[in-house]
Amino acid sequence: ERLGELTVDDTTCGYCAVGCRFDVFTDGEEVLATRATDPEKSPVNDISTCVKGKFSYSFANSEERLTSPLVRDENGEWREASWDEALSRAVEGFQDVIDEHGNEAMSVIASSKATNEENYLMGKFARQVLGTNTVDNCNRLCHSSTVAGLAKTYGYGAASISVKDFEETDLIFLTGSNTTEAHPVLGTRVKQHVKDGGDLIVFDPRETQIAEYADQYTEIRPGYDTVWINGVTRYLIENDLYDEAFVEERTTGFEEVKEAVSEFTPEYVEEVTGAPAEEIKSAAEAIAEADRAVFGWTLGITEHSHGTDNVAALANLAAVTGNVGKPGTGVSPFRGQNNVQGGGGDMGPLPDNFPGYQKVADDEVREKFEEAWDCDISPERGYYTTEMFNAFDDGALEGMYCIGENPSLSEPGKTHADEVLEEMEFLVVQDLFMNETAKYADVVLPAVSFLEKEGTFANTDRRVQKVNQVLEKKGDAKADWEILQLLANRMGREWDYDNTNEINEEMRSLTPIYGGISHERVEEEGGIQWPCWDEEHPGTERLYTEEFNTEDGKANLVPVGYAEPMSPQTDEFPLTLTTGRVLYQYHTGTMTHPEKGIMKYNDRDFVEINPDTAAAYGIENGDPVRIESDKGEIVVTAQVTERVGEDTVFAPIHFAETAVNTLTDSERLDPEAKTPEFKATAVRISPV
Ligand code: SF4
Repeated sequence: ERLGELTVDDTTCGYCAVGCRFDVFTDGEEVLATRATDPEKSPVNDISTCVKGKFSYSFANSEERLTSPLVRDENGEWREASWDEALSRAVEGFQDVIDEHGNEAMSVIASSKATNEENYLMGKFARQVLGTNTVDNCNRLCHSSTVAGLAKTYGYGAASISVKDFEETDLIFLTGSNTTEAHPVLGTRVKQHVKDGGDLIVFDPRETQIAEYADQYTEIRPGYDTVWINGVTRYLIENDLYDEAFVEERTTGFEEVKEAVSEFTPEYVEEVTGAPAEEIKSAAEAIAEADRAVFGWTLGITEHSHGTDNVAALANLAAVTGNVGKPGTGVSPFRGQNNVQGGGGDMGPLPDNFPGYQKVADDEVREKFEEAWDCDISPERGYYTTEMFNAFDDGALEGMYCIGENPSLSEPGKTHADEVLEEMEFLVVQDLFMNETAKYADVVLPAVSFLEKEGTFANTDRRVQKVNQVLEKKGDAKADWEILQLLANRMGREWDYDNTNEINEEMRSLTPIYGGISHERVEEEGGIQWPCWDEEHPGTERLYTEEFNTEDGKANLVPVGYAEPMSPQTDEFPLTLTTGRVLYQYHTGTMTHPEKGIMKYNDRDFVEINPDTAAAYGIENGDPVRIESDKGEIVVTAQVTERVGEDTVFAPIHFAETAVNTLTDSERLDPEAKTPEFKATAVRISPV
């Protein structure tokens, strides 16, 4: 549509996985304004967007944008290069690593900011062109424990509900989710649920803004989630408050879970987690009284050395109370980056999965992809992202192609991550900006943002939505799929995609859960939720209405025991640091730091300290504070607040100058999902 010299087109937000849709008013070069799309076409956000969706687009025209490829000159300094030269250098470097150390010495970090189609190609590029299964993405740092925990209990590693279940439920049970800041428009839905008379229970180490709306807010110590979740489940079972019929008909493993939770009495839970015994009981009774309950969580549950167990414990709780598969019931992990559900998971840029969670280890599946992609593929899984950084130490990996991520800041153990990036034999970074990781690269390839390209994203309720190009591409930058195609063809392949629709057609022909999701239908229907098996299938609003996606069709309950952080408090480090996001920033800041309006509200990280703790250490609001762990130290500004308990401190993750991952550890990982323990690190603080 043209309005005078202005164009207006709809697209999907590139900031978070709520997946708001909005119209963009543009003169082709700049975003001038946005407004929520026609609610018919945007069932997720209806008429809302948050501050980032409304205002934060300066990054697209930032002077810091990379507009041409960069290579190093003979002195190791950066200089601009033609695409021809940069691609030749990249291909030569990849080939040198492969020739000297073998295909499996290469690694790829794929981008959950990129489209589904591009992520499909990132997985294909790793396996077909580089010949390795070592391809992973930022899901490893956040919700891969959700995927592991839900896959083994229910079958699909994704939310079982649709956003509209928030309107149909009686009780929303939230834990480890700072919903209003990390998923603002979902936060609005939760608040609306409360205004409409619905119940809300929040368990969290921080009294976040959403907790202010709760009927019950219970403060917990970070890192002991299996204890309090099992305590709630035990109370329900012991007092016959669980759903016996549902358990009988639709689950297996109940007796084992009953046995496993038997030691978690309310009094024991209080002793370990700090959650008052009475609040364990009242939370359990509220779940039992509600006809319909939704269980929502974010990274406060998953980013632990036992994140998979935490998620399995929540899945047990939802199933024993019969809260799965009916309207207004289910589990809802709120995914983080805009396309981590679709690009990071569904499209299979993963060491053990092809698109649609088809297993690399499954001979039949692997043969299907070998035939389609005309290559041999090893049945052995590659390294997960967090393992990659340790594998470089052992010499098992030597080269990396890093697309749209910033591991220098986002990996646990920043000092270690920087050493690995510095020392690796060959590194290509593809990004919009010269981010902290790109500074270590041999070649930097300029990519474009979601505003400058077309494709699809999948949001947190499995909804595939259209991304439309609303701005001209900046300078000589290219879409990720175009760059991948150029590299693949220089490495002897014959990719011939003219557009992302052609990529989507190939992908869905190989991916049963996306079988009916064509671009045309997504445009027409305003989004389709997977699984969508064929053109006639309407998509799936709610999972598990009839059967779970397990071999026997039942929820396989998994007994979960006591778990504690790998970095528990000690005399030397008597406080626990937990980390997270703030409303006005996004991840490592590449997209939000260029926005002056945003920076006015939040231009630095800080540390939240309880007033009693601050007084004990002689710290006042606004003082610089040193935080030390066994891995390093940072200095940040104190925010003295009752949001956190006396032995917990909280710091955000958004600024390189105070990189909080200096304090975390690359070795503290969940044993199954390999998710790092970002949410509980023993620290000490002191005034500077
Ligand atoms: Fe974008 Fe998330 Fe804000 Fe919606 S809530 S406008 S998807 S950042």
